[in-house]
Amino acid sequence: MREAELLEIRTAVAQLCASYPGKYWRELDRERRYPTEFVRALTAAGYLSCLIPEEYGGSGLGLTAAAAILEEVQASGANGAACHAQMYIMGTLLRHGNPAQKRQYLPQIARGDARLQAFGVTEPTAGTDTSSITTTAVRRGEAYVVNGQKVWTSRAEHSDLMLLLARTTPRDQVAKKTDGMSVFLVEMRAALGRGLTIRPIRTMINHATTEVFFDNLEVPAANLIGAEGRGFRYILDGMNAERILIGAECIGDARWFIGKATGYAAERRVFGRPIGQNQGVQFPIARAYMAMRAAALMVERAATLYEAGQPCGAEANMAKQLGAEASWQAADMCLQTHGGFGFAEEYDIERKFRETRLYQIAPISTNLVLSYIAEHVLGLPRSY
Ligand SMILES: Cc1cc2nc3c(=O)[nH]c(=O)nc-3n(C[C@H](O)[C@H](O)[C@H](O)COP(=O)(O)OP(=O)(O)OC[C@H]3O[C@@H](n4cnc5c(N)ncnc54)[C@H](O)[C@@H]3O)c2cc1C
Repeated sequence: MREAELLEIRTAVAQLCASYPGKYWRELDRERRYPTEFVRALTAAGYLSCLIPEEYGGSGLGLTAAAAILEEVQASGANGAACHAQMYIMGTLLRHGNPAQKRQYLPQIARGDARLQAFGVTEPTAGTDTSSITTTAVRRGEAYVVNGQKVWTSRAEHSDLMLLLARTTPRDQVAKKTDGMSVFLVEMRAALGRGLTIRPIRTMINHATTEVFFDNLEVPAANLIGAEGRGFRYILDGMNAERILIGAECIGDARWFIGKATGYAAERRVFGRPIGQNQGVQFPIARAYMAMRAAALMVERAATLYEAGQPCGAEANMAKQLGAEASWQAADMCLQTHGGFGFAEEYDIERKFRETRLYQIAPISTNLVLSYIAEHVLGLPRSY
């Protein structure tokens, strides 16, 4: 995509976000309320369906554009976590869904009539070891019967569709432990009260996250994505997109923290001069800026490879990790630059500080990225 087009998208997203200032996010955060108005506005402007091909009503843009959109959302001080999943879950449906599934669901999503925002992978006992999931889907006639539990299924209460990973063959009956898992598109509205129960989890951030229980939930066999037993591979495809997009969001967060800190350092006078005149205050800002710019290059590179259909596992992981490190460095610096005022809600720093901390842990924790690089890129022995 041409630089000028990307810049146009960035400017338009920033303009939309300007209608949702810190006050809006602060109030939602206090009440742990979902940003319905903001998500509607992003949907109406077509940003959340930017990856859907034009033939299905989307704008058919690539991951670079999606990354730019989410970066600008975060850079405005907003929190795109309320709706970012639609962009990365989409990868699995676009790449592995059959034409009938695409015809049925993509136009609804593109119109904003249905939200694909819930991603049911993590389970309480399996944790990061996805192949140990115990939620099962057993074929019975024209349906699969799902039993089990997921945790941290974010946005489940605000989504119409869930992409669900479940075991269709027990782990001890497959050659590879990652075989025997399948992906389903679950229509959540119809399932609620008929085998699907959602319970919100209150967390340190406003993330609308939940635990989800399946009790003999029937999912039509037509909603199986791709071939039975190959779901882990399909999910992995989506995960590279997810890591790149989260990396981009972290760049946006870092930009917001750096902008705030720079503004405050230039303005706040102590000992008769701006605090930003002291190199002890300047240098951490400059370091955070360099870390952000370096991470942004990795995000760009990973997105370019992804769009070209080339292998990008290492770059996607590095983009997520470097982005998350840059945003956390910037968050810590910004709080320090503001002194005591950084703790006051009205500055939004403590909120963004809590929000950006998530990306050290989700969607993949830092240790797991490091072991990916050590083992898959550097060839060191596998630790698990
Ligand atoms: C707010 C929030 C929203 C989320 N949203 C979703 C969602 O929408 N959908 C979804 O499916 N999941 C979601 N998650 C789950 C998230 O992806 C997991 O929390 C994350 O992958 C880590 O898994 P875990 O919490 O089970 O940690 P664990 O796997 O229990 O790990 C705990 C700690 O041990 C470390 N560790 C574990 N194994 C190793 C090892 N072999 N080597 C070194 N260190 C190790 C980890 O790095 C981590 O620091 C969300 C989580 C949160 C907190």
